[in-house]
Amino acid sequence: MAQAVAEKVWTGQHYIAGQWRQPGGEQFESLNPARFDQVTGVYPRGGQAEVDAAVSAARGAFTAWRRTSRVKRGELLLKLAGLIERDVDELARVLALESGKIIDEARAEVVEGLHMVQYVFGTSRQPSGQVIDSEIEAKDLYVRRKPRGVVAVITPWNFPFAVPLWMLAPSLVEGNTTVFKPSEETPEIGQRLVRLFDEAGFPPGTINLVHGIGEEAGEALARQADVDVVCFTGSYEVGSHIRQVAAEHQHKTCALEMGSKSAVIVCEDASLDLAVNAALLSAFKTTGQRCVSAGRVLVHRRLLDPFSEQLVARARQLRFADPFASGAFAGPLINQRAVEKVAYYNDLARQEGAEVLLDGGRMNDGPSAAGYFMSPFVYRQRHAPGKRTVREEVFGPHLAIVPFDNDDEAIAIYNDTPYGLSMAVITEDYRRWRLYRDECDYGMGYVNLPCIGAEVHLPFGGVKRSGNGQPSAAALVDAVTHRVAFTVNHQRGITMAQGMSALVPETQ
Ligand code: NAD
Repeated sequence: MAQAVAEKVWTGQHYIAGQWRQPGGEQFESLNPARFDQVTGVYPRGGQAEVDAAVSAARGAFTAWRRTSRVKRGELLLKLAGLIERDVDELARVLALESGKIIDEARAEVVEGLHMVQYVFGTSRQPSGQVIDSEIEAKDLYVRRKPRGVVAVITPWNFPFAVPLWMLAPSLVEGNTTVFKPSEETPEIGQRLVRLFDEAGFPPGTINLVHGIGEEAGEALARQADVDVVCFTGSYEVGSHIRQVAAEHQHKTCALEMGSKSAVIVCEDASLDLAVNAALLSAFKTTGQRCVSAGRVLVHRRLLDPFSEQLVARARQLRFADPFASGAFAGPLINQRAVEKVAYYNDLARQEGAEVLLDGGRMNDGPSAAGYFMSPFVYRQRHAPGKRTVREEVFGPHLAIVPFDNDDEAIAIYNDTPYGLSMAVITEDYRRWRLYRDECDYGMGYVNLPCIGAEVHLPFGGVKRSGNGQPSAAALVDAVTHRVAFTVNHQRGITMAQGMSALVPETQ
């Protein structure tokens, strides 16, 4: 187990109005999920007072920041991109240690965050509005995006570097100021990110960091009356609560990215090798802890036996190990609660009549016993509307193979969950994938690929319980700005649209 030990325990600080605050008061610990006897860091447990101070700093910085040229705001992001590039290896190491992601994936996540910053920098010299013709020849119509104000950014542990950047970078370039609350499971990588914003020269108050527990700092931030937009990524349960909390204030909007029961659909004409690879990557990369992880693979009955056989044989070989171990395919789960949740759903699958093909579960041998390691649980399950294991998010190495007999049935099964985030269809038939494209409920669709692996310059978001229609990444701009319209008259008199008279009677 090379390098999997922090040299020293990290110390957290809030960052408010450009100042790193000395920790005081209550604290919380962050653990290494691959070695849960190891504390990686100690962080201040922020609450109402810190949230109020951070929101007030963001509000105080807003006017000057929105008046700063968009091009200059973008240039600070270019500086940030350079700093991320400089620190890629160290950031990946911190991310792997804290989240349990294997080092190769941790690095890919840092690169994904970098791509977002580069993409957003690129938008800073792009048009931020439109000029439109009026029906009146002498009038010009303009549409312009304006920042909404103070944006709260509340993020999950499983993408603790990229997801904050999906939200922070577009919010800032558009002229908003921000308050960031990272997950309590991964506070260090959030803090490292904010240190880079600080080093890049973002003015005090434009980005603020409050550490803390979801129900305390997160709740206080979502409720804070002076927040204009809440950008949240995390579970449906917390997201739907935030939506209700945001509704307490008329002006407040929210962009929610939540859970899923994503799926790979293997059609009768699929290439078997590609289908098996796509299913393995979709279900078990990141130990099944991606929002887009496939909890289900729907397989045409003609391919059911060979597919199941190959998938199980290959899943057996996957190595779930320390994030720094060579040859590791994926790491541990994030915490004990996650282990218990997966174990619960493994049991439930049996109760719901599953034919278990690979009986995975808690790994209790050798070094695995010291971390939250679980191996894949794979089963065949006929779909039925009441079955929870084929409809609910498990968020771990738990995969149902669900047979179907024709495309209409596959689409009906795919759509029979409360979620709609990601879908991959494996087929050689161009007519068939078009049918799935149009009939399935999802935000990200793939053909002959896994259902994971988005790129930042696309919108990222889902439907139903997976999102509220405000996709993030490249599309976040719509959530953090509002569009104003204005009309300029270039003639000396007034002509009204729609043929309305502009005559005003003279006084007698
Ligand atoms: P979570 O919902 O437990 O926590 C997410 C964030 O919300 C954390 O920062 C947490 O501190 C905060 N929080 C918790 N309670 C809160 C409250 N009452 N008020 C305000 N904030 C609160 O999620 P998690 O376990 O960190 O992440 C896993 C979940 O995130 C999964 O459901 C996964 O599917 C989802 N996710 C979705 C996407 C997406 O883009 N759709 C991306 C990544 C993860």
